[in-house]
Amino acid sequence: MPLGGTGEIGMNLNLYGHHGQWLMVDCGITFDEPLVPGDDQRFRVLCADPSFIAGQKENLAGIVITHAHEDHIGALAHLWPRLQAPVYTTPFTAEVLRRKLAQTGLSVRVPIIEVDAGDSVAVGVFNITWLPITHSIPEPFAMTIATPVGTVFHTADWKIDPDPGIGQRFNSKAFEQLGSQNILAMVCDSTNALKAGHSISEKCAYEGLRETIAPLTGRVVVTCFASNVARLLALATIARQTGRYMAVLGRSLENMVSIARVTGYWPQDVELIDPSHLGYLPKEEVLAVATGSQGESRAALHRLAYDNHFALNLDGGDTVVFSAMVIPGNEQSVERLVRQFEQRNVNVILSESSTHPIHSSGHPCKDELKAMYQWVRPQIAIPVHGEAEHIEANARVARLSGVNKHFAGRNGDLYQLAPQPMLKRQAIKTGRVIVQAE
Ligand SMILES: [Zn+2]
Ligand SMILES: [Zn+2]
Repeated sequence: MPLGGTGEIGMNLNLYGHHGQWLMVDCGITFDEPLVPGDDQRFRVLCADPSFIAGQKENLAGIVITHAHEDHIGALAHLWPRLQAPVYTTPFTAEVLRRKLAQTGLSVRVPIIEVDAGDSVAVGVFNITWLPITHSIPEPFAMTIATPVGTVFHTADWKIDPDPGIGQRFNSKAFEQLGSQNILAMVCDSTNALKAGHSISEKCAYEGLRETIAPLTGRVVVTCFASNVARLLALATIARQTGRYMAVLGRSLENMVSIARVTGYWPQDVELIDPSHLGYLPKEEVLAVATGSQGESRAALHRLAYDNHFALNLDGGDTVVFSAMVIPGNEQSVERLVRQFEQRNVNVILSESSTHPIHSSGHPCKDELKAMYQWVRPQIAIPVHGEAEHIEANARVARLSGVNKHFAGRNGDLYQLAPQPMLKRQAIKTGRVIVQAE
């Protein structure tokens, strides 16, 4: 039963129930409309209303966090006092979580059980096995959730990436093996289900960025999602190859680099310079990576656009590269930044209009969905992680891939899987609660 993330993009929160117990998978946030209409500077951070499960927290056996993206982990520090269940996750995600918990003073109270690829752990009546997959952050995991009445395959966020830059390459073997295990239901990411073909590899984004940056002669600023550590390492390699020094600008990037260092994802010989040194370098030796690809008003890129960043001033002939897509809803704030840069003759390269691929999505397109359905051969397809049209599109791919039964539902629906599969629409009331108002 999804409380969040099904019928919308963001704030994923899924509950699995069996024999009077519940298992929570993910606990994320989303961003709301501006508090003041037309004012895109002040957003509210929201998450799924947990009342249904908080009201019976004694039945919650555990909380699993699949990976460290905010739409999967962002609300846990806020909601945990109402849930009070042990948290199961992998080391990188655990480090991200510990830092969030430290900010709320909860870190000592929350039991975090670290698991790894291939581990099987009994959480109450649920037997969970973590399966490595590829996405756009270190340590993405799919999982099987087994009970005596059937096994669910929960993909979480994924793509098929033969060269993800960090972690193992995509390996279909584990999923092919599921094909002979009579999987009852496959609960699957729908984000890119409207897109034909196959997502591009992280390696292609690296090559595209290298082709884009190599001929540039002025300062280069690249903005991307802080949690894409593979992308950050690719940029560090490009800096070295093109005779530039790299610095990261913005707190979430500094935090992510620090987490990557302590969890072993950041090689010791990959050096960054202090941002305050950028101003002393010849412009052709500058490569800055900045937060704020969505036009966020307090992020480094915004300060660069309005020329009030403490460490760096851009001039005509410098270039800003958006190595990220614009999330629907953020178009206006991004456009405003682009205009600001262009007024000052700073070149802007957007991933949507770039000649080289400079961003790769972390979610599966139609061909990848099809391959996964054909490997796993579940009895029932349950598309989640998307708006209604993405969910419908994912269900169509399932049907074309030979999965005859699918449930296209939304938050608050109860997907009964056994003994008699049926979708009970709006079994409970769902809603959103405020995590933070800015
Ligand atoms: Zn994700
Ligand atoms: Zn996600």
